Amino acid sequence: MTTLALRLGISRCLLGDEVRFDGGHKRDGFLTDVLGQYVEWVPVCPEVEAGLGTPREAMRLIGDPQHPRLVTSKSGTDHTSAVEKMTENRIKELKELDLSGYVFKKGSPSCGIERVRVYDEQGMPNRSGVGLFARVFIEQFPLIPVEEEGRLCDAPLRENFIERVFCYRRWQDLVQRGVTRQALVQFHTIHKYLLMAHSPQQYQVLGRLVGEAARYQPKELARLYGDLFMNTLAVKTTVHKHVNVLQHILGYFKERLGAEEKAELLGVVDDYHQALTPLVVPLTLIKHYVRRFDVSYIRDQVYLNPHPKELMLRNHV
Ligand code: SF4
Repeated sequence: MTTLALRLGISRCLLGDEVRFDGGHKRDGFLTDVLGQYVEWVPVCPEVEAGLGTPREAMRLIGDPQHPRLVTSKSGTDHTSAVEKMTENRIKELKELDLSGYVFKKGSPSCGIERVRVYDEQGMPNRSGVGLFARVFIEQFPLIPVEEEGRLCDAPLRENFIERVFCYRRWQDLVQRGVTRQALVQFHTIHKYLLMAHSPQQYQVLGRLVGEAARYQPKELARLYGDLFMNTLAVKTTVHKHVNVLQHILGYFKERLGAEEKAELLGVVDDYHQALTPLVVPLTLIKHYVRRFDVSYIRDQVYLNPHPKELMLRNHV
């Protein structure tokens, strides 16, 4: 597959830097040692960059979950303005870096992207908050894939996040080259089965948009397609949807197989359907036949190679 230059933002403590309030870190081995081989990390610690120092007093969000204040837990010192100022400046810098994704630290009042504790006046927490820095990042970069390190322990969520990162990069490369109708048709074509594995319905909607491309100005077309493309990839895949895609793909060469080969291949797909094997098993056999019969339309499908095989993401879904 084409190697794409990927730059991802990351909560700095996840890289092992001792920037947490207690002087510690939250190094994540998968991110540093595995994914780190394929991406360039852009580390950000909003609290340290706001000048709060390490170690520092622990902080929490209080008040209105939509507009919380960031205050220290014991002395009640309000650091909201400092982190907001840092955020404003840092977001401007990040806009120049062409990020393809961001991994945030779970639960942090600065970096958490969901279910962050917000305390009411009585000191009661509810998990309805978003970290101060993370909230602005998501508002400013609504299509950039974001995830928390905790959720990346879940194999399907990990696979989905990394797939979206590569897809977003590919989309951004097209946007930077210019979204002509012809280029969009080609882009849509090679993503057909990947999109169908997420949502056959939204794949159709995207197809209609491509078909009506002449009605739109290039910028508007890119905005509409990009939004729907990324939102479709965020829809969960299921075994059933993958099996549907695999069967479509088999249709391109099934009749060229001998009876035994055909039975073996259908058996492997069925094993996957029954959760007896992971997705990598039928795909490996399918890729073998796609090469053998030189089925160019399928060979070019991103679905077959959405991310580096060395990450082994489809060995676990
Ligand atoms: S969670 Fe965010 S603010 Fe807290 S130490 Fe990590 S990078 Fe810094």
